[in-house]
Amino acid sequence: MDILYRSTRGVAGEYTASMAIIKGLCEDGGLFVPDKFPKLSVSIDELAGLDYKQTAYIVMKEFLTDYTEDELKGCINAAYDEKFDTEEIAPLVKKGNQYFLELFHGKTIAFKDMALSILPHLLTTAMKKNNVNKEVVILTATSGDTGKAALAGFADVAGTKIIVFYPKGGVSRIQELQMVTEKGKNTKVIGVNGNFDDCQSGVKAIFGNTKLTEEMASKGYQFSSANSINIGRLVPQVAYYVYAYGRMVKSGAIKSGDLLNFVVPTGNFGNILAAFYAKQMGLPVGKLICASNENKVLFDFFESGTYDKNREFILTSSPSMDILISSNLERLIYLLCGNDANKNKALMEQLKEDGKYSIDDSMRAMLKDFTGFYASEEEVFNTIRTIYDSTGYVIDTHTAVAATAEGEYASQSQDSNKSVIVSTASPYKFTRNVLKAIGVGDDKTDDFELVDKLEDISKVKIPNAVEEIREAKILHSTVCNVEDMEKQVREYLAL
Ligand SMILES: *Cc1c(COP(=O)(O)O)cnc(C)c1O
Repeated sequence: MDILYRSTRGVAGEYTASMAIIKGLCEDGGLFVPDKFPKLSVSIDELAGLDYKQTAYIVMKEFLTDYTEDELKGCINAAYDEKFDTEEIAPLVKKGNQYFLELFHGKTIAFKDMALSILPHLLTTAMKKNNVNKEVVILTATSGDTGKAALAGFADVAGTKIIVFYPKGGVSRIQELQMVTEKGKNTKVIGVNGNFDDCQSGVKAIFGNTKLTEEMASKGYQFSSANSINIGRLVPQVAYYVYAYGRMVKSGAIKSGDLLNFVVPTGNFGNILAAFYAKQMGLPVGKLICASNENKVLFDFFESGTYDKNREFILTSSPSMDILISSNLERLIYLLCGNDANKNKALMEQLKEDGKYSIDDSMRAMLKDFTGFYASEEEVFNTIRTIYDSTGYVIDTHTAVAATAEGEYASQSQDSNKSVIVSTASPYKFTRNVLKAIGVGDDKTDDFELVDKLEDISKVKIPNAVEEIREAKILHSTVCNVEDMEKQVREYLAL
């Protein structure tokens, strides 16, 4: 069955998966969605016997139907190799009575590596298949983790250039150092005086600027995106939910066919949407528990049916979730609209104009797969400390948002299904706040001294991603205002 991709906002036209990956975002500002949901071609009983690469293949081949078997397997083998520090790629661990799916064993120690280690391969393959001879310029807004993962994936990849915008002052010190020490010759990293939403809106505006894209085309360039708005990010993420299910069966924690819940620390809604896609493929998924930090716009949406971003933007200890406009929610809204692009477009226009929109009761009824929770900063710190005290396991601040939600859900609901907490970053990426929660060090302790302390208490070796920035030179120091983002792009590309 061939899957084609169309825009959530209705511009006519259907694209193959490879063309949708090259384009990134649709010219009408909409996101690409599959025209139907494929089903898994292997039975649920077989999942426990598949390793990560095999699982990735059986999932991705259903969505990326215009890639040949050789092409897709080539991409998967190139992505999930020794760049990951464990052959399992995404280990599932049990600590106390909680299950954690560790998605931070890639090069930049956050879950973004799961998709961004394969996206460059999917994209360069797509360009070859479609005879696209232009140089692709990847334009990315980051709340901290996408930036470095995209840089690592695209650094020195022939035929590509990558520009990353991050909120200056809105990311952790380790996250910033990872980005500004990037050595790739085709990379540019720019701090923006603004928050993540400003960066993301700025990037979307550049994508939508037809005059600029025409000028680019005449110089042999074409934009694409490494953000989770690119379908090439979303599809690889579906794989680890299917894999986690197989691991739970293999370990005997559940029986094949049992419903399994996932608790996902959420920002842009890409990760949890992939879990929803896995469910649409036939994976026995129960509840999808959407965990937010104090920027709880999604929690309020699930409670009230109104999405309202008119509120203070809070800088929290989980910066990769400091987001008020969750881009990927649009893909879900489109489904709730019964795939009616005009209805979806009207809601997205309201969001742009008034900063809010409401969905009707019939649409709300379709949200029954989801439950929203949020964790305060105090709860996040308590959870990190409690889990460390009782098990010796150290989790990062984002994972702690989800672990808090899991605890609350387990005690409030009558649900007897097991839940897996999606663990999105290594604690080494957020050492300062993690150690503050545990009560080690103080505000004056140097970042790398804290890193050494974390190794002592967690008994987990310092990852390469952190070792390599200890002495690295800062190579990117540009900072700009929101309104100068386009100018920066023009300068870098000499337009
Ligand atoms: C990006 C990120 C998230 C949020 O994921 P979304 O797909 O944007 O919802 C959560 N935790 C960490 C560590 C991240 O890097």
